[in-house]
Amino acid sequence: MGIVVQKYGGTSVADKERIFRAARRAISEYEKGNKVVVVVSAQGDTTDELIEKAREINENPSKREMDMLLSTGEQISIALMAMAIEKLGYPVISLTGWQAGIKTDSHYSNARIIEIDTERLQRELDKRNIVVVAGFQGINKYDDITTLGRGGSDTTAVALAAALKADKCEIYTDVDGVYTADPRIVPNASKLKEISYDEMLELATLGAKVLHNRSVELAKKYNIPLVVRSSFNDNEGTIVKEVNSVEKLLVSGVACDKDIARVAVIGVENVPGKAFQIFSLLAKENINVDIILQSIGREKTKDISFTVSKSNLKQTLDVLTKNLHVIGAKDITYADNVAKVSIVGAGMVNNPGVAAMMFEALYDAGINIEMISTSEIKISVLIDEKDAEKAVRAIHDKFKLHLLNNEK
Ligand code: ASP
Ligand code: MG
Repeated sequence: MGIVVQKYGGTSVADKERIFRAARRAISEYEKGNKVVVVVSAQGDTTDELIEKAREINENPSKREMDMLLSTGEQISIALMAMAIEKLGYPVISLTGWQAGIKTDSHYSNARIIEIDTERLQRELDKRNIVVVAGFQGINKYDDITTLGRGGSDTTAVALAAALKADKCEIYTDVDGVYTADPRIVPNASKLKEISYDEMLELATLGAKVLHNRSVELAKKYNIPLVVRSSFNDNEGTIVKEVNSVEKLLVSGVACDKDIARVAVIGVENVPGKAFQIFSLLAKENINVDIILQSIGREKTKDISFTVSKSNLKQTLDVLTKNLHVIGAKDITYADNVAKVSIVGAGMVNNPGVAAMMFEALYDAGINIEMISTSEIKISVLIDEKDAEKAVRAIHDKFKLHLLNNEK
């Protein structure tokens, strides 16, 4: 007997039948004598539809009102889920984020959870209620509703698991687990039996949409193993946890991110302080910069190129153009038809030759590399967007990831 947190994503609660399927799964944990917390996302495409609705009224609504609107998607789900559990004859109560004591900072649309006051939750669990909590939302110090960023229900689940010291945190989704590549791009991708927090964090950040990256950060911080599995079958899923060194895989996944643009500041005077100037301008605007490349240009100048997410491109160009004379640069160019393809593997730290193999795969496929960046457990390349899928398949093949079978 213990505490179990289960999270069901939007597709897992998209219709009546699926809601009942999830409800029965929650009940089966409850039947074992466990205290059960169920976190749900908005049904199907509800969140996207709400964003669309907002746009019809106002192309630039305040973030506070957007959060007010988007949080309603999850509120529908908790009520319906609670009604299903009720219908099946079990005691249940639904709670919105604020009712569940989820306190966040004030960054509307991308808030962070600061603390969870579990008093109400504990009380309901002690009464032997199944507690259904709205994912993706909390409340800030002004008593306003905030949301945690797209995909944030995963983070709600992990934060609740940490606060309640849960014994198990299961993330139910529409795929069987974490794969070596997106199975829609690579049909013979392998499902991983387990993956380390660090690798999962890289994959989540690099555009694999299985888990919200902040949920993985939290799981790592509190050492909570996560089980990612399908709500549509009983397959085992993937466990995200601390993986010890002998089990480390050379490459455990290939990810692809198309939400990226490359910006180049051309003809920057070749003196100290220029990179500092450029990137502090961007930092002030809260713009995240990814791959950075500096190269020698003509006549004692240098070019500084970097990538940002597509949604930050306009703001990036605006602030740099406005400050072109301050920076002392000649021109700014950009490209938004680029993609970042990355390999992640905890075992690559001590194994030379992994990068060469990746580049060979791209060369064999006739794909040109524009930029490269590496970390201990990751290698990323920037390429033409039209080559993205081909690159993922070529790399996946090269490392024979379809044969990868870390099932034990
Ligand atoms: N409903 C929100 C979204 O679509 C949060 C989530 O699904 O986790 O992003
Ligand atoms: Mg999700």
